Order: sequence, then C-alpha cells, then structure tokens
Amino acid sequence: MQYVSSRGSAQALNFEDVTLAGLASDGGLYLPESWPLFSSQEIAALAGLSYVETAVRVMMPFVAGSLSEAELRDLCTQAYGRFSHQAVTPLVQLDHRHWLLELFHGPTLAFKDVALQLLGLLFEKFLSNSDRHLTIVGATSGDTGSAAIDAVAGRDKIDIFMLHPDGRVSDVQRRQMTTVRAPNVYNIAVDGSFDDAQALVKRMFNDREFSSRFSLSAVNSINWARLMAQVVYYFYAAVRLGAPDRPVAFSVPTGNFGDVFAGYVAAKMGLPVARLIVATNVNDILHRALSQGDYSQGKVTATATPSMDIQVSSNFERLLFDLGGRDGKAMAAQMHGFEATRAMRLSNAQREGAAKLFSSARIDADDMSIAMRWANDAAGQVIDPHSAVGLAAARASDLDPAIPMVTLATAHPAKFPDAVERSTGVRPPLPARISNLFDREERYAKLPATMEAVSAYIAERATPRD
Ligand SMILES: *Cc1c(COP(=O)(O)O)cnc(C)c1O
Repeated sequence: MQYVSSRGSAQALNFEDVTLAGLASDGGLYLPESWPLFSSQEIAALAGLSYVETAVRVMMPFVAGSLSEAELRDLCTQAYGRFSHQAVTPLVQLDHRHWLLELFHGPTLAFKDVALQLLGLLFEKFLSNSDRHLTIVGATSGDTGSAAIDAVAGRDKIDIFMLHPDGRVSDVQRRQMTTVRAPNVYNIAVDGSFDDAQALVKRMFNDREFSSRFSLSAVNSINWARLMAQVVYYFYAAVRLGAPDRPVAFSVPTGNFGDVFAGYVAAKMGLPVARLIVATNVNDILHRALSQGDYSQGKVTATATPSMDIQVSSNFERLLFDLGGRDGKAMAAQMHGFEATRAMRLSNAQREGAAKLFSSARIDADDMSIAMRWANDAAGQVIDPHSAVGLAAARASDLDPAIPMVTLATAHPAKFPDAVERSTGVRPPLPARISNLFDREERYAKLPATMEAVSAYIAERATPRD
C-alpha cells in the first residue's frame, strides 16, 4: 500500500516510511492511495474471530509490502496481550438500543492505548531494520502522554521526552507518566499552560537543524498508523451486533477527529455504518463545521473533558481531502487560508459528502452529567465524562431505534474521579493493576517554558544522528 499527502506535493510513501514520518513534508497528512474494500462475505467471516485475528484481517491491506501477515499477527498479539480484558474492546449493553464499546482496558486506561501499544512496537520493528534512532518529543494535556510513554518505555533506539503543563494535569494522569521507570523516558513539567508546552514542541520540530540532528518524531494522531489501529474496533463491534446484515451507528466523543475518522475509514471499507455522531463538548468547532459549514477557531474553554478541549482538529483535513475529490492543490489552498485567518467555509461537496454519514452534537456540562447519571441508573455503569458526552449525543439522536447505537467509551472513570463523583456520587476506584499508583516514586524535571531551557535539556540526553 502506498500513502499520499492531503496537500498533494509530498512524495508517496509505503507503510513503513509513513509510520516513521508522521506529518508529510508539505505539511499535509498521509492517507492510503485507495480504500481497501471488504465484501459482505469477508465481513461475515470476521464473526467469531478474536480481537487479534480481527485486527490482522482488517489491517493487513494497509501494511502490505512492509509487514508479513505473521509479523503483523506477532505485533498485535504482543500489543493486545497487555489489555486486561480478553475481548480487548468489550461491548456492554445499556438498554434495548444503546451499547458502550469499552476502549479503556489498556495499560493507561484510555482508548489511546489501542493505537499506541501497536505504534510502539511498529517503531521498534522498523528501527531494528536500520541504524536509525528516534527521539519522540510531545506535549500532553493528559492521556496521550501516559499512553505514549507506556508504549515505548524500555524500547531500543527510541527516547521519549514528554512535556506537560506543571500543575495542570490530574494527579492520576501525572503519576501515570512520572512513575514509569525506564532509562529512555523523560518527563518535563513546564512552567506554563498546555498551549505553551505545545508551542515549544512545534518550535523544536520547525528548527530543522535540531529536528534532523535528533530525528524528532511525533506520536499524536496525525500518525496514520494510529488511525489504522482504531479502524479495527469498529469492525469488531459491528460484527458482534449483526453486521454485515444489520447496520450499526456509532457515537464518538471527539477532539482531534482521529477516533471518528477511523469510523469513516471502516465505512469506506464496506462496513455498514448507519451513522457516525461527532460528539463535542462546548469547544464545538466540529459541530459548527458539520452543521453549518463554519470551521472557525474559537477560544478554548476548560471543561470536565480535557481531552476534547480542542479548537482545531488536525484529522479533519483528512476527511475534507477525501470528500473534496482528493484534490491536493485545492486542499493546500483551503488549509493555508485557514492557517492565515483561523477560519474557513466547507465547500458544497464537502458538506454534502459529510452529511451522508456524519451528524454532530454539542454537549454542555449539564447534558454530560445527565448522561453519566442515566448510565448509572439504567444499567449500573459508571462512565467517564468523555464517554458521557458521547452517550448524551447518542441519546439525543433521532436515528431509527432498530439500529443498534454504540457509544465509544474512551476513558476509564477512575482517570477522572472528581468529575464522576460530582455527577453520580460514586467515586470510582483505581483498577487493581495500578492501585499502588500513589505509592510509586515520581521522577520528572521542572523547567521554565522557554525554548533554551527545554531544548538544552533534550540535547544533553537524546542520541544524535551520527
Ligand atoms: C483523545 C481523547 C478523545 C478524543 O479523541 P480524538 O481522536 O482526538 O477525537 C476523547 N476521549 C478521551 C478520553 C481521549 O483521551
């Protein structure tokens, strides 16, 4: 499989190179040059397969040419063997039509483990074929940082430097990063906001000399391999609810449009997806874009769902490119316009194309809280605030009730105990595997939010290219 950039001018790459590259050199995002199509028989044949076998079938067309089926199976077995549930992503029934797809049984309790556990292994595998070394640098507001650190801790030829805003992530989130003991893991608390940390990371990537000296690499959801790994659970869930004979709808708590874009890919591959609901909190750029064609950046408001407090959704570009007839030149012009003015209109083709599959909803704090209480009352399920945003949107949908409605449960409630307790009166305990999190020793550096301080810290510890 070859991958093309959404902005049309970067070179096409194979799966191995697209995994290591992250962003395309023209500033675009990589997509497969065409969507592999599964027949009804092929989808029906997924019934009864384990998660790992489903993953091998669904991902094989995307990795062809870079991994053999046996290699892919070996990586999936390792990655998903670390989940605490045999089904990896189990379905839980809430009432006659609503289901939860629990994506939080990985090591760091958020759905990001599903993709990052595999990505860590892919990095190691592809680096083992070369003498390259990678330096992962990222900024996190919580979940990505711990999932990425867990995925690469102790791996050869990779160092990871993760910046978080000092005092502005939850204690559970910080400890999940800072108590990891591995010689290649460096946590940095910067004296500033998440935006300050993110801006520092961007400047390091834009510093070509620094970036190439240390082979900087990114682990955020612009990386195609992350999206690919997320396509699997749409198939896994839909087949269990009757696909290919019965269509299934999904409601997805959305920030950077990565998780829900994976649902779009599944639909493109032939899975009968009746609808994809894009559920946002009050940071609603995607809801405005899908309902009115208005993609304009607002101010970020802090909410009980910090992983969705985003006002620019990187992966939306992938959808617009695919819906707009894959015209890289036009996409580059549209995105440059957005970058200059922080606003753009969707074209008619983009709006009409999106409306065939997507709907959207903006969920405020009250509706989120009501959904959390309903899940507890109706089915004894204590759910996290992000999942509750998805469930609120699912329950507000006017879709035919004969179609099963699956809400993606993106985090374990114990990651956000205060918000859960405020809404339900229940304080969710940490799962046994990390119940000693608060006894473990933390290790991290505290640095001022300046380029000089952070780049000097990294340069002293990272492995330069020789
Ligand atoms: C990252 C995250 C999201 C948003 O996912 P996107 O792929 O960015 O849309 C939702 N919920 C939780 C718990 C997350 O960690």
